[in-house]
Amino acid sequence: MSFFSTIPVRFVVTAGFLACFFFAASPQAQERVEAIFQYSTINALLQGLYDGEMTIGELSRQGDMGLGTFNHLDGEMVVMDGAFYRVGMDGKAHMVTAEEKTPFAVVTFFEAEETLPVPEGLSFKELIDFLDDSVSNRNAFQAYRLDGIFKSLRARSVPAQHKPYEKLAHVIEEQAVFEFVNVTGTLVGFRAPDYVADLNVTGFHLHFLDADRSAGGHVLGLVTGPGTVQVNEINEFHMRLPDTADFSHIELIGDHKEALEKVETKRQ
Ligand SMILES: [Zn+2]
Repeated sequence: MSFFSTIPVRFVVTAGFLACFFFAASPQAQERVEAIFQYSTINALLQGLYDGEMTIGELSRQGDMGLGTFNHLDGEMVVMDGAFYRVGMDGKAHMVTAEEKTPFAVVTFFEAEETLPVPEGLSFKELIDFLDDSVSNRNAFQAYRLDGIFKSLRARSVPAQHKPYEKLAHVIEEQAVFEFVNVTGTLVGFRAPDYVADLNVTGFHLHFLDADRSAGGHVLGLVTGPGTVQVNEINEFHMRLPDTADFSHIELIGDHKEALEKVETKRQ
C-alpha cells in the first residue's frame, strides 16, 4: 500500500518541480536571445500600412534598444535602455505606455562587443562610411549605440495620419525637421545587409535622443564631436508579421528603392 501511495506522490512532486523550473526559465531565456527582432516589413510601411496589432509591451519582450514608429504613423520611436520613446512633431520625446501599438519596429537586446572612438568632424555620410569600414561580416546585421557630442545634428519626425492613408513617400513631405547644435546624446540603430531590401532599411538607419531623453528623431544629418560607438554583430533575425486584414491584401513585392531613399534621407 505504501509503495503505491508514495510513487505517484513523488512523481507529481518531481513533475511539478520541473514544470515550475521550465516556466520560470523559459521567458528569461527567450528575452535574452541575441537576435534582431522586426515587426512587419519596410515595404508595408512604405505602402501606407500604418496600423499594427503589436503592443509596446509585447515589443519590449523582444529587445531593449531600437527604432520604429507608432500606429497612425504617430511620430518616431526611439528605444534606449529598455525605455520606449515617441518623438512627436514638436521634436519632444516622451515615454509611451505598454498599450500603445506599432506598425513597424526593429529592436534587439543590445550587448556591446566592440567599442570604437568616433573621429571628430565627420558628416553623417562620413560617419556611415567609418562604421561601414569596421563591419567584419557584411551578411550579418549590426546594432549600434553611439554616445557623444554632436557639433550639429538634424533629425525629423512625421505627422500622425488619418485614413485613407497616403504612401510614406507622400507623407514625408509634411515631416518636421529639428536642428540641434553642440548637443550631447545617443544614436541607436542598425545596419542591415542588402539582401533584406524588401523587409528592412538596408545600410544604416539611426535614431537620436539627447542626453535628457527629451528630444530627438530620425537622423537626417550630423557632424560628430567626441564620442564612442558600441557595436553588436547579430546573426539571428526574427520577424513577426501583422495579423491584420490590411496586411493580408497589400502588395509587398516591387521596386521601392527610390521611395525608401526619399523617406530615409529627405532634407527639408
Ligand atoms: Zn527612422
